[in-house]
Amino acid sequence: MQSGNVVVIGGGPGGYEAALVARRLGADVTVVERNGLGGAAVLTDVVPSKTLIATADWMTNAELGPDLGIRPAAAAQVTEAGAGAEHVVDLDAVNTRVRALATAQSADIRGRLEREGVRVVIGDGRLDGPSTVVVTTAAGEERIDAHVVLLALGTTPRVLPTAVPDGERIFTWTQLYELTELPKHLIVVGSGVTGAEFAGAYNALGSTVTLVSSRDRVLPGEDADAAELLEGVFRARGMNVVSRSRAEGAVRTADGVAVTLADGRVVEGSHVLFAVGSIPSTQGLGLEEAGVQLSPSGHVVVDKVSRTTARGVYAAGDCTGVLPLASVAAMQGRVAMSHALGDAVSPITLRNVAANIFTAPEIATVGYSEEQLKAQSSKYVTATLPLARNPRAKMLGMRDGFVKLFAHPEAGVVLGGVVVAPRASELIFPITLAVSHRLTVDDVAEAFTIYPSLSGSIAEVARMLHHRHG
Ligand SMILES: Cc1cc2nc3c(=O)[nH]c(=O)nc-3n(C[C@H](O)[C@H](O)[C@H](O)COP(=O)(O)OP(=O)(O)OC[C@H]3O[C@@H](n4cnc5c(N)ncnc54)[C@H](O)[C@@H]3O)c2cc1C
Repeated sequence: MQSGNVVVIGGGPGGYEAALVARRLGADVTVVERNGLGGAAVLTDVVPSKTLIATADWMTNAELGPDLGIRPAAAAQVTEAGAGAEHVVDLDAVNTRVRALATAQSADIRGRLEREGVRVVIGDGRLDGPSTVVVTTAAGEERIDAHVVLLALGTTPRVLPTAVPDGERIFTWTQLYELTELPKHLIVVGSGVTGAEFAGAYNALGSTVTLVSSRDRVLPGEDADAAELLEGVFRARGMNVVSRSRAEGAVRTADGVAVTLADGRVVEGSHVLFAVGSIPSTQGLGLEEAGVQLSPSGHVVVDKVSRTTARGVYAAGDCTGVLPLASVAAMQGRVAMSHALGDAVSPITLRNVAANIFTAPEIATVGYSEEQLKAQSSKYVTATLPLARNPRAKMLGMRDGFVKLFAHPEAGVVLGGVVVAPRASELIFPITLAVSHRLTVDDVAEAFTIYPSLSGSIAEVARMLHHRHG
């Protein structure tokens, strides 16, 4: 195995996992990070949003109390205001917890890297040719020669020039955790994963929420049944979903914000969150000068083992635009280092990636989507079982959700699946195993599930596909 000097620019999941692999393979490793270890994933994106959503989930569950026979201690307090009304969210306390958790996780990652012998440099990194990294730190400039460079630069939120975030009324998702009071009326612009997650969370926390979507429905590009179900749940919970309306800009008013839509309508609220995509952090770093090709969108072009077009320079994570997930970033980084340092490596198979949308209910997917199967004219069969038919779901008071599988009509191999349920992120794993290992619907159907359990529906759907085509 070849050792050498590895420099990783960016300390997010794409970078820090790779640094650990490179150390294990015997390289001298430096991680250059301008903010904090763990990257945006830990400090502003995954960890804070999922911690906030943990509180939102609790509020959603608390709403089930009356259905499950739970009453406030003083029975006289039971009012028509009803579900969950006896609980209020102290957003200052929630956000203090969120920030503390993110900071602690960042410190843990830094500690782990340093214990493993990785050198951490806090500063701005850029390339001076393919094998030199220049770091600007508080103390000055440092040049580091590298046999291998890994670019794990991540992205930043896209900002509309007509809606410049001020962190007080107009926000990007990275700025929300300084809020000390729940917005009275939060307008969320953008109905992709991030917009849907925040709209759902703030609605559950107690804000009035208007979700502005430029498309026909929320979560464009996701499984259509899942997206439709979620939109129905959003509306039933009192969210105002404004579809087919592009937001042109936002301005502050005397006591809030006014968001102008393309058709001239104006939506007024107390705060607005723009969740309108991300821009790769690849500009002004000498990348193209070093021979690293960028796509028209500014993403680093990579092959299946994370090589860029410059010899010795690899890239991982969101800056590559391959699939914006922490798990994929980490896998790309590990693959890059294994390839660069001569260890065994298998190219990334995106088909096997499981993804989850942390709304209530959650939407988890793996394998081919129905849209992809149709687009590539694949032969497939599908079956869906509503969660409401599952005995455990009935006991738990869960109504909204389903399990859906896609399989090959003759071979029976599981091609993909969708789970819409509370904790779908946990339930998807047996389907991920089936997709990764090319198990058949019969393999899935024949495995024991607990009675009663939500996972019983996964085996049941697999059984439905056998009956139809066995
Ligand atoms: C709101 C939100 C929620 C999300 N939730 C999930 C989720 O639940 N699950 C999931 O899998 N994914 C989630 N994602 C996606 C996930 O955050 C990204 O896929 C992940 O952060 C990508 O990791 P990365 O290492 O590529 O980049 P990042 O985590 O962005 O890290 C890149 C790092 O590089 C540093 N950097 C950049 N340029 C330089 C430079 N020139 N010099 C020094 N340092 C530099 C940055 O400071 C940053 O710390 C979410 C994203 C958002 C926006």
